[in-house]
Amino acid sequence: MRTPVIAGNWKLFKTIAEATSLVNDLKPLVSGTAGVEIVVAPVFTALSRVAEASAGSNIRLAAQDCFWEEEGAFTGEVAPKLLKDAGCSHVIIGHSERRQYFGETDESVNKKVKAAIGAGLTAIVCVGETLAEREADKTFAVIETQVRGGLADITAESLKQVVIAYEPVWAIGTGKTASDAQAQEVHAFIRCLVAKLLGQPSADAVRILYGGSVKPDNVKGLMAQADIDGALVGGASLKADSFAAIVNYAG
Ligand code: PEP
Repeated sequence: MRTPVIAGNWKLFKTIAEATSLVNDLKPLVSGTAGVEIVVAPVFTALSRVAEASAGSNIRLAAQDCFWEEEGAFTGEVAPKLLKDAGCSHVIIGHSERRQYFGETDESVNKKVKAAIGAGLTAIVCVGETLAEREADKTFAVIETQVRGGLADITAESLKQVVIAYEPVWAIGTGKTASDAQAQEVHAFIRCLVAKLLGQPSADAVRILYGGSVKPDNVKGLMAQADIDGALVGGASLKADSFAAIVNYAG
């Protein structure tokens, strides 16, 4: 059995005070939730304060990106071990917004994934096709390239510290969700690919999240799919009640 992961990506929203207040509002709404890995990803500046606010709760902390070097003359970058130091257990890597606006490539994703694993973090590795790619029937080719590139040289043992997030770019922040069947089809493809790369036990164990306009009213259908093991949630994670409703999808 794969433990579902529901992760909230707060993107570039919320001051330290707003972020701590959101996690404080969220805590009682999810304190009784068992069997779900709950993760929130505030901006870097709020990480340590959100870590303090969520200490002792069932809410885990993720950063939204990291660098691959441990230290050095890399102005503006943050190393995985410093994220750990700030209280993170997870880090999102290769989000489509980083690929689109900040030149993230499969190669840089791969370096970051390895560095994150080395620092003891769980990497939430994002992949997803654009609308033009889907319309040109390139979805599977794009996903295969991103998964192979992002996970190059990752061993079956290291994969235990990887969660894959399938996020069709056309569904992120647009209100357009992939249908349950569209999402399941790509998730099954990713799981088969992982089996080819690292063997069936790794494929059976790896969590594959869906992301793209997940809301309280569509999460149940998505989570009912055989290969969907959770959600990476943007907009709906910015309010405690809607994120809690997604976390508590089972009931
Ligand atoms: C995301 O940021 O990863 C995301 C899926 O956003 P949204 O839920 O707003 O589409």
